[in-house]
Amino acid sequence: MKCDFHTHTVFSDGLVWPNIRAQEAWEEGLDAMALTEHIEYHPHKDYVEVNHNRSHELIENLSKRNNVLLIKGTEITRQTPPGHFNAIFIGDASSYIEDNVSEKDWKAVMKAADQNAFIFWNHPGWKPNIEGSYEWLPFLEDLRKKNALHGIEVINGFGFHMKALDWCVDKGLTVMGTSDIHNLVGHDYDRSRKYVHRTMTLVMAKERTPESIREALDAGRTVAWASKYLAGKEENVKNLFNACVKLMPSHYSQEKNGVRTNFYEIQNKSDLYFELELTSGKGTQKITLYPMSSQLLSAEAGQQSLSYDVTNAYVRSDKFLNISFSL
Ligand SMILES: [Zn+2]
Ligand SMILES: [Zn+2]
Repeated sequence: MKCDFHTHTVFSDGLVWPNIRAQEAWEEGLDAMALTEHIEYHPHKDYVEVNHNRSHELIENLSKRNNVLLIKGTEITRQTPPGHFNAIFIGDASSYIEDNVSEKDWKAVMKAADQNAFIFWNHPGWKPNIEGSYEWLPFLEDLRKKNALHGIEVINGFGFHMKALDWCVDKGLTVMGTSDIHNLVGHDYDRSRKYVHRTMTLVMAKERTPESIREALDAGRTVAWASKYLAGKEENVKNLFNACVKLMPSHYSQEKNGVRTNFYEIQNKSDLYFELELTSGKGTQKITLYPMSSQLLSAEAGQQSLSYDVTNAYVRSDKFLNISFSL
């Protein structure tokens, strides 16, 4: 399921009315979204009432009509470090703490934890010049131990926070990708170009319901997707790849200088883009799998398998997904 759980409207520092977010989500084929207004920051407050529940309420019916699942959320905006946190699946947001002095950081996040929200750390590398802003601080570890931190934004908009992918893998946190969109989606992303779309989280939910999304988020079954790039835990990225790409039985064979070569069709039945580079075996060196397309793969006869790195899919900051095709 295509999900974006980090967006803003004029009810915090976004530039659009909530309806626009709902219509964009429908137009882009999202399955689920959340409006996550800053609790502490309301630059339009002279014109738009400060009400932490209001933007969500305004598009509840429209989202239902559009068949987009609207998950209630907010952005808890603390000083950096520790930075910003998104909480989704929240309850009433009216009692959240607006004062962002650091002494209240813990209490501010705990408001969401007390409501059994799903909480993730936003854009960890967004202010690299501030000491401690891109480090796994004790504050974060304490939140994690209290079951008050469940994921990290590995990709926020156009920012890829590589260290966050390793933290998610090593600490059992969920990989998130979000747009953090403030302007029109069509302003920030040139959607007339191929492979360009808002950054989002692909959630492997069992059913298309909020409960199933929550179950998958809690279980960590996600992959972050930003234009051509994928990032996630190995198991999830591999499952996603295998659900999209299929190697067909060999349809042709030829012999040249005593070497027999078999030809296969490799099919990509998804919206995703994949680049493959051979890592073991004798066969086609590089394959680009465009969305909804097939390519030819050739392999010397007599081999059991070929292995490839998927060079646009990260499973750690320094590691691509490696897949193997049985021949
Ligand atoms: Zn933020
Ligand atoms: Zn934000």
